Amino acid sequence: AKRRARGTTARFDASMREEISERLRLADELVGAAARGELRLYLQPIIDLDNNRLKAFEALVRWEHPLHGLVPPGVFIPLAEDSGIIGEIGTWVLRESARWAAQIHPGVYLSVNLSTRQLEDPLIGETVRQALEDFEVPPGRLTLEITESVLLDGQAEQLARLEALRATGARISLDDFGTGYSSLSYLQDLPLDVLKLDMSFAARLIDGDDPHASTIIRTVASLAKGLGLDFVVEGIETTDQLARLRALGCPLGQGYLFAKPLPANEAVVFASAGRPG
Ligand code: C2E
Ligand code: CA
Ligand code: CA
Ligand code: CA
Repeated sequence: AKRRARGTTARFDASMREEISERLRLADELVGAAARGELRLYLQPIIDLDNNRLKAFEALVRWEHPLHGLVPPGVFIPLAEDSGIIGEIGTWVLRESARWAAQIHPGVYLSVNLSTRQLEDPLIGETVRQALEDFEVPPGRLTLEITESVLLDGQAEQLARLEALRATGARISLDDFGTGYSSLSYLQDLPLDVLKLDMSFAARLIDGDDPHASTIIRTVASLAKGLGLDFVVEGIETTDQLARLRALGCPLGQGYLFAKPLPANEAVVFASAGRPG
């Protein structure tokens, strides 16, 4: 929604009302989007920075709205979470990305974002297990990316479900690490295999060296290593930034420098060019 100038209170209220009703309209139209075939699977490579080889792909969903075109997930995932249809969308992403992964080299891993709301579903473990089984993807190939919100409000059941998911052999990644309410205690309280550093840290290396950012990145990389966790830096856009991140000891990276999120068919081509040896 385009925000109007907030000249008067009345105008502000009107534009707010407009924005809210647009959100409601979009949320309405999102119902059944998966069943109508309007969701699109995009995948972005995750690269081993030691040897530039392809390590994994992260599944990133888009919604092809019949009128508005591609709607980014930052817009519609929150709507889906609020309206309770995140389960339908999440299941589509899990199944579609498992189907996709089955077509590429089995040495390439797959990451799927999991909303905290999906962990409220007692059947989530079964949904994940079934998706992997139907497309014959071994659980160890799957990483589920979660955010720290799983630990807010003492959500003991969600945490238990996460542990059950991990017990199937899938790996758990903590996304957007270093922002929001994430804290070091999550590294102790969550069952984790991977840490993903929020891209705001790498962004501070784009225009030359930022001593504080460098220290933080080097230290978190070392912390992850000490804890036996994989470590991924997101948002790598320039070769200079990449060189700095390598020098800071970052083992894995993701960003526009390597590739933007690609439509599924283009990601297959990328995978066959850069698959691990
Ligand atoms: P995220 O999981 O943190 O995903 C990374 C986002 O950063 C993606 O945005 C990606 O396109 C973008 N990105 C990647 N490389 C670069 C870069 O070099 N520079 C910059 N500026 N951005 C980069 P996207 O695809 O718009 O997704 C936004 C968010 O929507 C995701 O953030 C994730 O929280 C959520 N999301 C996407 N797909 C799903 C899904 O299937 N399920 C759930 N629950 N959430 C999803
Ligand atoms: Ca993610
Ligand atoms: Ca992230
Ligand atoms: Ca995010």
